[in-house]
Amino acid sequence: MAALVNCKVCNRLFISKGSSICDSCSNENKDVYERIKEYIERHPNSTIMDISNVLDIPAKKVLDLVRSEQFQLR
Ligand SMILES: [Zn+2]
Repeated sequence: MAALVNCKVCNRLFISKGSSICDSCSNENKDVYERIKEYIERHPNSTIMDISNVLDIPAKKVLDLVRSEQFQLR
């Protein structure tokens, strides 16, 4: 069921089929997600702050992605 909602990330209105973020943010998140995933694979003991600093991604965004994608972090 599609509904018009505000994107959780950029706040733009978009037609959602269940997602809380729009397509462009979703695509951007995928890129960021891949970078985080790769980093975690190389550095399994890294923290949110490490990832944020090294990849230059805001800690809040790292945290959101880690939570939504269920990365296993210490
Ligand atoms: Zn968006």
